[in-house]
Amino acid sequence: MTSKTTVKTLLILGASGDLTGRLLLPGLARLVADGLADGLKLVGAGSDPWTSQQWNKRVAGAFAEAANGAGAAGKKAIAALEKSTEYHQLDVTADGKLGTLLAGLEAPIAVYFALPPAISQKACEVLTAQQLPPGTSLVMEKPFGSSSESARELNKTLAALVPEDRIHRVDHFLGKATVFNILGLRFANSFLEPVWNRDHIAKVEIIFDEDLALEGRARYYDRAGALKDMIQSHLLHIMALLALDAPSSIGERDLRDAISTVLRASSISAPYKKSTRRARYSAGRIGERNVPDYTAEEGVDPARHTETLAEVEVGIDNWRWKGVPFILRSGKALGRARREAIITFRPVPHLPSGFEGVDAPNQLRIGFGPDTLQLDIDVNGPGNMFSLDRVTLNVELNGSALLPYGEVLEGIISGDPLLSVRGDTAVDCWRIIEPALKAWAKDSVPLEEYDAGGPGPADWPTAVGG
Ligand code: NDP
Repeated sequence: MTSKTTVKTLLILGASGDLTGRLLLPGLARLVADGLADGLKLVGAGSDPWTSQQWNKRVAGAFAEAANGAGAAGKKAIAALEKSTEYHQLDVTADGKLGTLLAGLEAPIAVYFALPPAISQKACEVLTAQQLPPGTSLVMEKPFGSSSESARELNKTLAALVPEDRIHRVDHFLGKATVFNILGLRFANSFLEPVWNRDHIAKVEIIFDEDLALEGRARYYDRAGALKDMIQSHLLHIMALLALDAPSSIGERDLRDAISTVLRASSISAPYKKSTRRARYSAGRIGERNVPDYTAEEGVDPARHTETLAEVEVGIDNWRWKGVPFILRSGKALGRARREAIITFRPVPHLPSGFEGVDAPNQLRIGFGPDTLQLDIDVNGPGNMFSLDRVTLNVELNGSALLPYGEVLEGIISGDPLLSVRGDTAVDCWRIIEPALKAWAKDSVPLEEYDAGGPGPADWPTAVGG
C-alpha cells in the first residue's frame, strides 16, 4: 500500500489518559502496521512527570496486538515508531509552554487534544498562530463545546490559529466504511433516488440502543445524558447522510457542504412533550448481569435528572423531506443492542382486491457495525397465491480493516478532514437539540423509567413492534 503520510509528527496531549491508552494508541498501531503512517513520529505529552521508559512501556503495550499480527514490513514500521517516540512533561495551559514544545518538533505537526474539554479549550486560548509551525493541524475531541454559543466561541478561537480544513473535530462513531456504504447505496442505485422523498417515505428512524449500562463513566455521562452524548454528536450525522442531496463528489468539500445544508434545515418543533421523550433506567438484569438503578450508580447525582434513553423527532424543512419525521433514539442498559436506521415506505395506494395478507409497509433497514442491509418486501406466499407474505432480502456490507480511531487518525495524518465535523455543523447540532434541552430542564417533558435489560418504554414510537 502506498503511504499518504503528510503529517510528520503526531503530538498527543493527554498521554496518560484513558482515550490515549484504550483507543488512540491501538488505532494508531494498526495504521502503522498497515504502512499508512510511514515516517511518522509519535510524541506524548502530559502533566505527569513520566520517564521516557514509562511512556515507551505504554506505547509498546498498546502496540503489542498489532505488532503480533503484522507482517515483516509492519513489524519493522512499528519498531521504528517505538524507537523514535518521546515523552514531554508540560502544563498545556501555561503560557508559552506548548508553543516551545511545538517549535522543537518536525513539521507538519498534528496536535491531538486528548484532554478534558475545558483544558483543551484553555490550551487553545493560550496558543497563538505565530507559535504554530507551518501546516499544523488541531484535533479536538467530543464534546465540542457545550452549547451552540460555546461551540461558536471555540470555533472562533481555533479559526484564529489554523484554517478550517486543518481543524479535525473527531467523530469516531461514523466510520469511513459506514459513510461510504450509505452514500454508495443511495447514489449508485438509480431505483432508490426517485422514491427517496416525502412522497414515498413515511418515516425514518435512527436507533442506537446499547446493552451496556453506565460502566463506571458517571463522571462524564451524568453531566451529559443520552441526548448530548449520542444524538447531538453522532445520530444527527447519520440522519444528514440519509437525507442529503447527491453531492457531485465524495470529497470533503462537497460532502460536508451537503451535510451542513441538511442540518441547517433541521429542527425539533414544539410542543416538546410530543416531539421528545426521555427516560432513566431502574434496576434490572441484562443477560446474566444484575444492573443497579441508574441513581444508585457510583458518582450519579439523581437531582441532575440525567436521561439514559432519549428520543427526538427531527423535521427537515426542505422540498424533499417536509413533514417526514426523522426519529432519533439512543439509550443505555437496554435488553438488546440495536444499531440501525429504518426507512419505512408509505403503503401502496390500493392493493388490488383479491389479494390478502399485507399488513406492514416496506422497510429498508441499514444496520451499523457490522454494516448490513435488509429490505422487507411482500411476495406471493407458498400455497395460497392470493396471500402475500413478508420476506427479507439480506446483504452484508463491507467493513473496514482499521479500528474506528485508526480511521480517524488516517484522515488526520493524511490531511483529509472528510470524516471530521465542520465548524458550522458542530454549532448546528447543538442548535437543533437546544430547545429539547431547555424544555427538559423546565421539566415540561416527564422523565420516564424503564427496567434495565428491558426494551424501554412500550408506548414510544420506536418501541419494538411500535
Ligand atoms: P482522562 O481524564 O482519562 O485523561 C485526560 C488527560 O489529560 C490525562 O492524561 C491528564 O494528565 C491530562 N491533562 C489534564 N490536565 C492537563 C494539563 N493542564 N496539561 C497537560 N495534560 C493535562 O480523559 P479521557 O482520556 O477519558 O478523555 C480525553 C478527551 O477525549 C475528552 O475530551 C473526552 O470527552 C474525549 N473522549 C474520551 C473517550 C473515552 O472513552 N475515554 C471517548 C470519546 C471521547 P494528568 O493525569 O497527568 O493530569
